[in-house]
Amino acid sequence: MQDQQQLKGLELLQQQTLDACTHCGLCLPTCPTYRELGLETDSPRGRIYLIQAVIDGETPVNEDFAKYIYRCLDCRACETACPSGIHYGEIIEAARAIYEMNVERPKEVEFWRNLVFNQLLPYKDRLDILFGLMWFYQQSGLQTLTRKLGLLKLMGKMGEMEGMLPKLPNPTRKAEIRNFMPAEGKAKYRLGFIPGCVMNQIFVDTNLSTIRVLNKNGCDVMVPSQQNCCGALHVHNGAYDTALKLAKQNLDAFDDEVLDAIVINAAGCGATLKEYEVLMKNESEAYQQKAEQFCRKVKDISEFLAEIDFQSPTNPIKRKVTYDAPCHLVHGQQVQSQPLELLQSIPGLDLIPLRESDWCCGSAGIYNILQPEIADKFLQQKIECLTETKAEIVATGNPGCLLQIEAGIKANRLSMQVMHPIDLLDCAYRGIDPLA
Ligand code: SF4
Ligand code: SF4
Repeated sequence: MQDQQQLKGLELLQQQTLDACTHCGLCLPTCPTYRELGLETDSPRGRIYLIQAVIDGETPVNEDFAKYIYRCLDCRACETACPSGIHYGEIIEAARAIYEMNVERPKEVEFWRNLVFNQLLPYKDRLDILFGLMWFYQQSGLQTLTRKLGLLKLMGKMGEMEGMLPKLPNPTRKAEIRNFMPAEGKAKYRLGFIPGCVMNQIFVDTNLSTIRVLNKNGCDVMVPSQQNCCGALHVHNGAYDTALKLAKQNLDAFDDEVLDAIVINAAGCGATLKEYEVLMKNESEAYQQKAEQFCRKVKDISEFLAEIDFQSPTNPIKRKVTYDAPCHLVHGQQVQSQPLELLQSIPGLDLIPLRESDWCCGSAGIYNILQPEIADKFLQQKIECLTETKAEIVATGNPGCLLQIEAGIKANRLSMQVMHPIDLLDCAYRGIDPLA
């Protein structure tokens, strides 16, 4: 057992954050892992007990601890259910950072973690090369050949991940996002926009839709070039030091800009950006102040549009659409009605309610890669709910959810498309049928 005094990272978790839990258990029925696995240790309350036991030195930081804290989706449904206002995301993320700081992972795991978190995500140019190669692989016919020859099965985990890859956009599209994109007509707002790292590689068209919608609604849009990956995947997976570096880089990138808001269209990234204050709590006063100002300005695109009373489109979209709420929007940011308001503003759109729309689809950052069996169960439950709606389009505002639901739709051979709500609003403004 580790000596509690020697554990690194304990300063990341304040006792009062844990003390907010009164152990009432009201969160248990809303927890996907508790519903699926039926164990107290896979519930929010059980994990809080476990983390407290580690802090008190009663339980070691070992593989068992990792099993339970990494089986959590970090979906934060427990935060919405909790009458005591628990900051559960902060607790689980600190617990993971404490684990990673104190336990040496097997070499292979360490290699992948270092590659993804430290060598790829923080470097836009490396991501450009990687996704450029993957685009070439898809366009050149190599992908078709690899699949026909059954080579993916020989590639193990890499093969499984390749199977989840959607059709990538032409990499040159990214050049259309410039540092300054002016409002249509007289500017009423001056905004910062964060295109994201993976979001900008896979869903650059959604970023371009977002900017067009903002410009149409009287917003000058700035995209400071020094900004970087928000660090959400790092925060969710205990890669604390890199998360801190990325957060500081983003705080510096937006420091000199006079902005009304900083807009993001990826729910997971938005939740992390809004919590930079938590990341900065042990840093210098200057960074704490920067974070306080920054966090106040960060808005999800649907949240911002609802606040400014956006222009309702006049062109109809005569399609059956259902909405799946990303966990980090509905629970992590408590942005609940705004995406629905945005969809309801589109004339002719038939918005069909989705059962369990606020339950996790199993994507949860890279949970579907780390815990594929449990994630598949959550995805299958989501697909059953989606099938009931008979919708033509499922709208959801997070890259992980877009990818996960698209994979589920393909695997189940459903005739349904998955799109970001902002793409639908953009189509309505432009008079385009989103399925044409
Ligand atoms: S974050 Fe989600 S999976 Fe984790 S304990 Fe809370 S409700 Fe359960
Ligand atoms: S997290 Fe909240 S709802 Fe869950 S047991 Fe603790 S106090 Fe109760």
